[in-house]
Amino acid sequence: MCGIAGIYSDKTVAPELYDSIIHLQHRGQDAAGIMTYDDRMHKEKGMGLAKEVFNSENMKLLSGNIGISHNRYPTHGGFSHGEVQPFWTSVPYGIALAHNGNITNYNEMANEVTQTENRYLNTTSDSEVLLHYFADQLHTTSPPTSSKDFFDVLCDAVTNIFSNVRGAYSVVSLVIGKGLIVFRDPHGIRPLVKGERPNGSGGKDYIFASENTMFYALGYEPTGTVLPGELIYVDEQGTVFNKRLVKTKFNPCIFEYVYFARPDSTLNDVSVYRSRLRMGQNLAKAWKNKYPNKTPDIVIPAPSTANTSALSFAHELGVRYSEGLYKNTFIGRTFIMPGQEERKKSVKYKLVPQELEIRDKKVLILDDSIVRGNTSREIVRMLRDFGAKEVYFSSACPPVQNPCFYGVDMPTKHELIAGNMNEHEIEKYLEVDALLYQTIDNLVEAVKRKGNHYIDQPCMACLNGNYVANDISDKKIAEIEAMRIQDRNGAS
Ligand code: SF4
Repeated sequence: MCGIAGIYSDKTVAPELYDSIIHLQHRGQDAAGIMTYDDRMHKEKGMGLAKEVFNSENMKLLSGNIGISHNRYPTHGGFSHGEVQPFWTSVPYGIALAHNGNITNYNEMANEVTQTENRYLNTTSDSEVLLHYFADQLHTTSPPTSSKDFFDVLCDAVTNIFSNVRGAYSVVSLVIGKGLIVFRDPHGIRPLVKGERPNGSGGKDYIFASENTMFYALGYEPTGTVLPGELIYVDEQGTVFNKRLVKTKFNPCIFEYVYFARPDSTLNDVSVYRSRLRMGQNLAKAWKNKYPNKTPDIVIPAPSTANTSALSFAHELGVRYSEGLYKNTFIGRTFIMPGQEERKKSVKYKLVPQELEIRDKKVLILDDSIVRGNTSREIVRMLRDFGAKEVYFSSACPPVQNPCFYGVDMPTKHELIAGNMNEHEIEKYLEVDALLYQTIDNLVEAVKRKGNHYIDQPCMACLNGNYVANDISDKKIAEIEAMRIQDRNGAS
């Protein structure tokens, strides 16, 4: 998962793109980049958090009132500075592009770009392939002069992308002398929201981003979601052109609601916070049905994504919610001292149990999901060490059985506990007195119950194996997993 943003404004956009990266930092902490343009392209990017990459000196160089930004969390490609987005090319026009997602026919598209279109790839990033493919589609013998004509060229280019590029991709791009362009793959798998505000020139400023977490701070009003298969173009005068080029089912990622998105986001016109409350409520009702004689004394979230669901779970059960596990939020990216390597991997290093909340109690841990299972087991052991009388475990997400190939860096099937064990075996592995997973129906209900949304059926491929873009065969799984392992082994 990554975070992207694109802004059109009547003033310099770089400071607001920086703020956007800060407000999307939870989507990617490995690297960050901003590109803007006026009479030429300006770029600044690097490894690390936004505050490590940007400073008052390099921000001054990012002039222009149209720009895009990217937070990187690698799902494809290596880990070096050269892989940091946005990417850009000078032919035609000067185009920059950043994307969130994962292209599943990377090899085919890379061959197309290098062998048919004679372009050179500097990296193994799928975003670079997408940039060059897009650039090649924009190449016309007679360049368009009006915005309307350019939009027609864009429509053809993006229609070709939708026909040929498989997987998940939400894209922000800028073209020198033309403006800001955004589009979202035909299934709308990765999020992309939009907002606007009046500007000082009597017109409007526009923002497009993975989440609307920065809208309030920057004064933008949310105006909904970029639809699946939709292309939006804001020209240099602030005129907006848009068209839904392809109409298929809207299948946004359900895991955004379970785990990735910030709780204050509204994605696809559904509040993430409210959906998590409903997940907890549905799970608690199922708990009461399955375990009428196992009512916990307290409900503790595995911090901190699960806090919201645990709150409504406890409320529904009529028992106390407790923050009995404290998470030190500063641990994530601290410098590892010699000899600290092993300690840092341990749950003990990240979570501190509060004994007074745990001793002699029947404790229910609610986690957003169980992926590998080793963290969950360590938490259970920790609670027993601190005197819990009984330990129950519930997951707001159904069993994660399959890897994600749409932009989320999940383990391979072999590493996923639910890909290899049934629920009874998992209960034994975790050493818990009772285990309950959310059902798929209850999770979907929690996401779709409210909100003025257009979601048909969310993507749940990691839960049910149905890869919504119809692009994943067993052969493809083997190919992508091999590339992923190669990327990890090659990581520095
Ligand atoms: Fe999201 Fe899972 Fe679909 Fe990946 S496979 S896009 S994580 S729902």
